[in-house]
Amino acid sequence: MRKILIGTHNKGKFREIAYLISKKYKKISPVSLKIKSPKETGKSFIANSKLKVRYFSRYVDYPVISDDSGLCIKALKNKPGIYSARLAKKHGNFLKAMKYILKKLDGKKNRKATFVCCLSFKKNSGGKIISVIGEIKGNISNKILGEKGFGYDPIFIPEKKNITFGQMPKLKKIKMDHRYIAFQKLKKKIRTL
Ligand code: IMP
Repeated sequence: MRKILIGTHNKGKFREIAYLISKKYKKISPVSLKIKSPKETGKSFIANSKLKVRYFSRYVDYPVISDDSGLCIKALKNKPGIYSARLAKKHGNFLKAMKYILKKLDGKKNRKATFVCCLSFKKNSGGKIISVIGEIKGNISNKILGEKGFGYDPIFIPEKKNITFGQMPKLKKIKMDHRYIAFQKLKKKIRTL
C-alpha cells in the first residue's frame, strides 16, 4: 500500500487531512516515526507550510503533506493568524485563548474572521513543493459554543450558518472548512490524492 506522511502533530488536523486523502494511502503520523515538529520561523502561512513539508520530507522517501493554518480576526488586525497555536500555548490551553479573544472583542461590532489553511505537498525529497490556500469566512460567536472539533472551532460561526464549528457534526465541518477548500485545490493538481 502507498504511504503518505501527514506532517502535523495536531490530532485534529491529522484526523481531518487523513479523512480527505484517498483510502489508497496508508496515512503515517510523525508521532509514530518519533519525528519532532520543526520550528515555525516563517512569517506567513505559505512560508510555514513549505518549511514543514520540506522538513518532514527529509525523514521519508514517500509523499508528505503539511498544513499551516490559523484564525485571522479582523478587529484584532488579523491576529492570531499564524500565531494561533502559539496563542493557546501562551494562555495555557485553547479554552483560555478563546476566553481571551472573546474579551478582546467585547463590545466590538465587527466580529468578522477567516480561517486560513495552506497545504503543501511534496512527492519525495527531490520533488518540488506544491502549495495551495483555502479560506472560509465567518464571525466570532459571543460565547464558547460546542464541544466538537478542535482548537478555535467553538467560537467560529461560518458565513450563512448559525452554529459554530464546535457545534457541527464532525463530518459536516470537515467537508466545508478551510482545509477542505485547500484540499480540493490540491487534488486538482495532484489527482492521485
Ligand atoms: P499551526 O498550523 O500548527 O501553526 O497551528 C494552527 C492552529 O490554528 C491550530 O493549533 C488551531 O489552534 C488553529 N486551527 C487551525 N485550523 C483549525 C480548525 O479547523 N479549527 C480550529 N482551530 C484551527
